[in-house]
Amino acid sequence: MADVQLHIGFDDTDSPRMGCTTYIGAILVERLEALGCKFTDYPNLIRLNPNVPWKTRGNGAVCLRVSCEDSSVDKVKDSVLETVKMNSDLEYARTDPAVVFLEGDVSEDLTQFAKRVLGDIVTVNEAKAVANRVHADVHLIKGERGLVGALAAVGEILHDDFTYEIIAYRFSENRGTQRKVRRESILEMDRETTPFTFNNYDPKKRRILITPRGPDPILYGIRGETPEILLRAKSILVVEEDIERWVIYRCNHGTDAHLRRVDRPVDVRPHQPTIMTATVLSIPKVILGGHVVFSIGDESGTVDCAAYEPTGEFREVVRRLIPGDVVRVFGGVREASSKNPVTINLEKIEILQLTQKVGYLNPLCTACGKRTKSSGRSQGFRCPRCSATFPLSSRIATVQSRDLEKRLYIPPPRAHRHLTKPYSRYGREKNVDPKSPVVVWHS
Ligand code: ZN
Repeated sequence: MADVQLHIGFDDTDSPRMGCTTYIGAILVERLEALGCKFTDYPNLIRLNPNVPWKTRGNGAVCLRVSCEDSSVDKVKDSVLETVKMNSDLEYARTDPAVVFLEGDVSEDLTQFAKRVLGDIVTVNEAKAVANRVHADVHLIKGERGLVGALAAVGEILHDDFTYEIIAYRFSENRGTQRKVRRESILEMDRETTPFTFNNYDPKKRRILITPRGPDPILYGIRGETPEILLRAKSILVVEEDIERWVIYRCNHGTDAHLRRVDRPVDVRPHQPTIMTATVLSIPKVILGGHVVFSIGDESGTVDCAAYEPTGEFREVVRRLIPGDVVRVFGGVREASSKNPVTINLEKIEILQLTQKVGYLNPLCTACGKRTKSSGRSQGFRCPRCSATFPLSSRIATVQSRDLEKRLYIPPPRAHRHLTKPYSRYGREKNVDPKSPVVVWHS
């Protein structure tokens, strides 16, 4: 009996009101093992382009990679399709689950497709063409839209940087109720495992980030650098409800995998998350809703950048920019509307050059030493004591403190997208071949 390498990708099973693609993955792990499959990698959880207008919450797709006996392939496929159908929110109009099976190795063609789905909008027709070329077995359960993500999950083999997430799930009778994970134990876990775990907690708002809100089956999810640190983190948590099951995913969380370098403002495209260097052209202004907006550009053109209200204290950094500063901006791109030009939604900013900010002081009266008063805009100065007058050119230029450093600034953890690389991951990027799972990685 020959063994077959089988890749199983699926996406778009969930809706805002229920379900969760990773939960289906967790159920399938057990079903496939029962059918004799050997996992050749941790289950993969792939976050796709967050800059797509029609995404459901997290825009995450799952791929399971297993080795199974030739004779059991049909049984495996039937089990997967049945599980996805049973656990998808098919009643929800915009949930269009798709499942893709691929036998053998993942080709370069397919990995390139996955990279494009991460950083751009790819049509269902393009996905169909790629699926045909690589001889993928495609199953559309309702509409076709899930195909793009399902196929991309198969193609994203996480050969570049990656992280892990341990996800614990709730029993169905507890879903929709308060999650019973003791707060102090989460803080202790955070202290004990940082910087090898990330985004557990937002210190400024004192907000726990590992437990989602809402009715979905996830009890908590902890992100980190290795499976081992996640098992340690799990062991520190005090959980006062029964855990139905848990699984460790290998992911692209916290890797900035969606961002593509663009050279000039004129090359910035809507829905293509971007990294670009340019000069600040306008004084940042606060607009309705508390968002901070400014424009950057070069001789090729200009684009707007926005730090939205949820980025909190990050906006204070952005507000201190002045024209002439050189910055590298990172973020999703919103298309132009009737009111606004193309706008980069800042996920982080690196300050490369700070221009000198010059302020002016009124001169001292040369006769009596008293500080003079301005005689009006663009006019000279007058001494309030002895009425001596002085020309505008007598003003005293002073270099003002910028209160900014030439470095990278990232919004607080609560405002991060799944893919945003946090401070703690800089210098920890991985670039190794995926290995088959080594530790106990699900239960
Ligand atoms: Zn005077």
